[in-house]
Amino acid sequence: MSIPRRRFLQGCIGAAVCGMPVTPVWARTTLGSAELMTVSDGHLRVPAPTPVGAALDSTPTERPCNITVLRDGDRTVVFDVGAGPNFVSSAGELVAALEDAGIAPADVTDVLFTHAHPDHFWGVLDDFDEPVFPEARYLMHAAERDYWIHPDTLPALPENRQVFASAASRLVTALDDRLEVFNAGDEVAPGIEALATPGHTPGHCSFVIHREQSSAVVLGDVVVDEAVSFAQPGQPLQGDFDPALAADTRANLLTRLAAERSVLSGFHLTRGGLGYAARDSAGRFHFEPA
Ligand SMILES: [Zn+2]
Repeated sequence: MSIPRRRFLQGCIGAAVCGMPVTPVWARTTLGSAELMTVSDGHLRVPAPTPVGAALDSTPTERPCNITVLRDGDRTVVFDVGAGPNFVSSAGELVAALEDAGIAPADVTDVLFTHAHPDHFWGVLDDFDEPVFPEARYLMHAAERDYWIHPDTLPALPENRQVFASAASRLVTALDDRLEVFNAGDEVAPGIEALATPGHTPGHCSFVIHREQSSAVVLGDVVVDEAVSFAQPGQPLQGDFDPALAADTRANLLTRLAAERSVLSGFHLTRGGLGYAARDSAGRFHFEPA
């Protein structure tokens, strides 16, 4: 279950009074010399993932938004920037959450985008339309950027999603030459490899972090929950740009992660989103928090 940040911090204040350790970080692990953590941007209230062909149950469920942060020496890498102030009132808390974790905006050296949906990308500019992390490099998969700025993209979307394209295009234009593009397989920052994971969006990317003998994978939205997309990864889901491709991507990556026993970080998974893809004796996947 996700906890709104203010309520979480209130809990921390209560914990401090009781002498318990206080931390604004949701989940944390080490990877060689690096520290891998997640902080919360807030949460969304959206329907549960629905299989293609099934009737949509519009009952909203709470979906956490975890931002992954890698700290190693003088580098602080942030994966996605959250929703910012203009998407939903329950998200857009990344900058405050980082500051609570002792990370100032100017400390961030690299911003790597998994994709350009609102909950991952709309937080990229501050109130003055300047990049929210002033010293950082900003990097997006070339195919993802090209999709969102293409003139055919907006009219092809359902009406309630056309704002995704107009906003993404505006933000890409505002970033101008601050936004660098990469291709699948590129080393986008030291020891971090871009892994094409298309389907949720055309240019969706995950990132493999290599440190000494360990590795971790920042999934983005390859999986968006545990009950459906994690437990039945091969099931095509409504809401993905290409449901069949997304299902293939999801099943293949979870199979790899379970075999390698790599740490994963899931943007919308519960309990901070850091953990493992585990399989039971029948081969079914489940999320095992780190
Ligand atoms: Zn998302």
